[in-house]
Amino acid sequence: MHRNETILAVDDKKENLDVLLDILEDFDVIPVTCGQKALEIIEQETISLILLDIVMPNIDGYEVCKILKSQPATKNIPIIFTTAKTDEDSISKAFQSGANDYVSKPLKRSEVIARVQTQIKLKKTIDDLEYLASRDTMTGVYNRRKFFELSTPIFDLYEENLFVSMLDIDHFKKVNDSFGHDAGDLVIKLVAKTISEMLPENSIFARIGGEEFVAVCIDDSTDRMTQLFENIRTAIASSSVDYNGHDISFTISNGVAQKNLSIQSIDELIKQADLALYDAKNSGRNKIVFR
Ligand SMILES: [Mg+2]
Repeated sequence: MHRNETILAVDDKKENLDVLLDILEDFDVIPVTCGQKALEIIEQETISLILLDIVMPNIDGYEVCKILKSQPATKNIPIIFTTAKTDEDSISKAFQSGANDYVSKPLKRSEVIARVQTQIKLKKTIDDLEYLASRDTMTGVYNRRKFFELSTPIFDLYEENLFVSMLDIDHFKKVNDSFGHDAGDLVIKLVAKTISEMLPENSIFARIGGEEFVAVCIDDSTDRMTQLFENIRTAIASSSVDYNGHDISFTISNGVAQKNLSIQSIDELIKQADLALYDAKNSGRNKIVFR
């Protein structure tokens, strides 16, 4: 019943791992006998929760916990210490190293299961909240906040192989005025879907205004970028939304700016793309302007 949850159980004593495997028979459990092995497994597998012994040779549980909690990729994995050391200092040290909870040895079946279930549930809730907080509700693509969170650190990694594209649906107000907001919403959703499906994996794509989208793309070929945006433009120009028997077609304008040494921040690059979009709008729409 919990087969999609993989728990990593770490203990230097095999008999302790056997007890855990028995208690957690409804879960998928990976048992390992040392901290080093635990760190290796976490890099390879998707782990939902870790049950971690404290006293182990070489790297002890506190150390494993500190390492995992200091890394972005693993800091949200809940860690429950399994320990015979229940004096105040040991417990305090466990929480200071980043533990989410602890269970005392000898392990009690119902307590282990309850604490494991609580932590897994909590992690799911946090993951769901983080997902919701990062998405545009209508289209499911990233929202403005998440866009800046993801694109700001990427900006510094590239000298010139970084592009920002500002995309805007042409005459969108006319769609709303002629067919109503439900029709307008369908157009926005289709445009978002088309663009996100056509952009390469490593792009960052977000809806940042009513009918306005932004994409960050990484590529060492300006020609390839030009072709990509041309393909997106034509795909959207040839698509349409069927609404109450009306066949609604629409186009987009696109302003693209490439990073160069005179551009200091993602905001400046976006400003350049915005100016290019402005040019695209003023010179006839349904077109791409590069800067
Ligand atoms: Mg031990």
